[in-house]
Amino acid sequence: MIDSEAIVRNQRECFAVNQNRSFAERQQQLRLLKAAILAHENALSEALALDLGKPQFESYMTEIGFVLHELTATIKQLKSWMKPKKVSTPLLSQPAVSHIHASPLGVCLIISPFNYPVALCFSPLIAAIAAGNCCVIKTSELTPNVSIVLKQLIASVFPPEYVNCINGGVEEVSALLAQKFDHIFFTGSSEVGKLVMQQAAKHLTPVTLELGGKSPCIVCADANIDIAVKRIVYGKMLNAGQTCVAPDYLLVDDAIKEQFLRKLTQRITELYGADAQLSKDFGRMVNERHTQRISELIDADKVILGGQVDIENRYIAPTVMDNVKLSDPIMQQEVFGPVLPVLGFSELSQVLDIIQQLPAHPLSAYIFSGNKTTQHLLVSKIQAGGIAINHCIQHLVNPNLPFGGVGLSGIGSYHGKHGFDRFSHQKSVYKAATWFDLALIYPPYKNKLTLLKKILK
Ligand code: NAD
Repeated sequence: MIDSEAIVRNQRECFAVNQNRSFAERQQQLRLLKAAILAHENALSEALALDLGKPQFESYMTEIGFVLHELTATIKQLKSWMKPKKVSTPLLSQPAVSHIHASPLGVCLIISPFNYPVALCFSPLIAAIAAGNCCVIKTSELTPNVSIVLKQLIASVFPPEYVNCINGGVEEVSALLAQKFDHIFFTGSSEVGKLVMQQAAKHLTPVTLELGGKSPCIVCADANIDIAVKRIVYGKMLNAGQTCVAPDYLLVDDAIKEQFLRKLTQRITELYGADAQLSKDFGRMVNERHTQRISELIDADKVILGGQVDIENRYIAPTVMDNVKLSDPIMQQEVFGPVLPVLGFSELSQVLDIIQQLPAHPLSAYIFSGNKTTQHLLVSKIQAGGIAINHCIQHLVNPNLPFGGVGLSGIGSYHGKHGFDRFSHQKSVYKAATWFDLALIYPPYKNKLTLLKKILK
């Protein structure tokens, strides 16, 4: 059993000593982290292959390379992010200057999920370090090989009172959540997110919740079908569908559905072969329980491609199901696997109806359309954490865009400067001059109200 009280106490002491961790110090920590990730690149890649059957290319693109890129950009831009921002001061508070200082929150807890265990541990950690915090990271128990490497990597570069990596499951996370943190950054399912928020409320600890949900993907009749097919297959089959922003289900205009599905199934077969279990480019489910869960969502009568399942080897074939109804089991939960349910529509209003009938609001929505009016309409009507037009997932890769959910898909966002802000308190600093003192605000008020009304209107 971990001694969570001591872990947090030691971090608090460390934070108190290094409270104003300078730019140079933070930059140095980020450089050390980058060197350690580079030194562990092969070990991380091998562990990702063991735990999730991740092809090396995917491991680099979506985890290791993604994190290195974020580190490079953060190291480069941190100085400007840390600079206090001058804002104007209204007349009644003059003469003075006003600034916003980004100050660290203190001791933060990061809880990571299994699906991108490297990226979703380091991406928030980079932001937390950049913002000057101490951090405890709880890795996912479902990716034990990756967790071992993460723990070694972090211990090789940071003392535990600064960054501490805890491997374990519910027992460890419960012990940690009993302590008071200054921020909890949780990535995972909505169900567990609710439990984390309940625990955090006991200490009034603010939370960031990066959750999941059913992300719709709309394909209109005027879309570039060949491009749509390529990008949807990419977004859905990456990490064997275990991506929080994967297109969860397709809404395809009836006018093009037949042609679209023919091209979609052709493309999947082209990429992964007639038997995707033999493909080196296709991942595995994280465990037998998830494989079993997803296999139960497959309705053999509706399968137009795939459907094969090998529970023992954690394999689900890339699968497409047509003529799916909202009442089908696959539409009752986040799929989180390589199974793509397809529904048809003839009017855009049906698309909005379907999205609204599902638990609100998706983490992402995808719109494939060549028509600007349609794009504008759907962007304005769909409530989602983020939207990509004519592509899947790529909005998440742009660090200038905040990444996070809305409603059931989450609270708060991060990436790039948004992550730095997420782990910072925006401290207001107002500095008044003493060479002049505005008598207007002090009693006796007498007939000052007329002047006040001229200023405050
Ligand atoms: P999960 O919620 O089961 O687990 C996430 C973390 O919570 C793990 O570290 C786990 O140990 C911990 N945990 C488990 N039970 C807990 C409890 N009772 N109290 C506190 N913590 C507990 O999620 P998962 O299965 O690892 O990941 C899949 C889910 O995460 C999907 O819903 C997916 O959409 C979502 N996700 C979201 C994002 C995002 O950025 N929004 C990214 C990746 C995954």
